[in-house]
Amino acid sequence: MTVELKGGEASDIGAPGAADVVIEARAVEKTYDTGTVKVVALRQVSLRVRRGEMVAIMGPSGCGKTTLLNCLSGLDDFDSGLVLINGADIAKMADDRKTEFRARDMGFVFQTYNLLPVLNAVENVELPLIVSGTKPKVARELALQSLDRVHLRAQAGNRPAQLSGGQRQRVTIARALVNRPAIMWADEPTGALDSATATEIMDLIVDLNQSAHQTCVIVTHDPKVAARCHRTIHMEDGVIARENTQAEMVAAANGH
Ligand code: ADP
Ligand code: MG
Repeated sequence: MTVELKGGEASDIGAPGAADVVIEARAVEKTYDTGTVKVVALRQVSLRVRRGEMVAIMGPSGCGKTTLLNCLSGLDDFDSGLVLINGADIAKMADDRKTEFRARDMGFVFQTYNLLPVLNAVENVELPLIVSGTKPKVARELALQSLDRVHLRAQAGNRPAQLSGGQRQRVTIARALVNRPAIMWADEPTGALDSATATEIMDLIVDLNQSAHQTCVIVTHDPKVAARCHRTIHMEDGVIARENTQAEMVAAANGH
């Protein structure tokens, strides 16, 4: 089933009860004004994501995927509309509260949200905990446990430059998960990886989604990645053009 969505309307696919909705966007609009040109990046984008759902966002380069993720996660401001995370209006939060909220409740696997090169793996992973006020000893132990989950405990002392691309992405995932956040945001998490490593990273994300019932929103170009998500939202030129179920994406990935 493919549903065409008009601007401003939230999807009705599996329309969640209010209590289940963890991410809600209502008619979000965002224009970048560089002084010489204005680029409308989001036009009346509305969506809902349920707790424990894994949602893929696909669409051509420049259609607004990263902007949407940044606006939903509070990394970026938008011009109009509303974003509610667990019912809280993030645009209304003071900056320090927003930072703490993100550090405590959200994990990020973003290409532009990279590992700090001067810190080793375990120091990078414990950073969100330190930011949200966890005691250093506890933070270190939790960070080592998180590295264990991505099979990198032995590399805890390595700096990013001393790790492979796949290992760096696993450290990013360990960092995103160290505080067991309710929501994980990933922007092309497998984009720079070979296909075997991409599969391994997706295995990890799917496992965490299933075991920790974590909500995941994943921007991807890879139909195989989308096929492992419960639902795929397709964007075109700043709007949500349509959605596909997992079964449809699996069929598409298999060439049917
Ligand atoms: P995607 O992630 O789908 O490739 P983006 O969200 O990065 O797309 O970009 C959407 C549109 O907004 C593009 O036209 C892009 O050029 C523009 N854009 C993104 N970031 C900025 C920025 N900081 N300043 C100006 N324009 C931007
Ligand atoms: Mg992008």
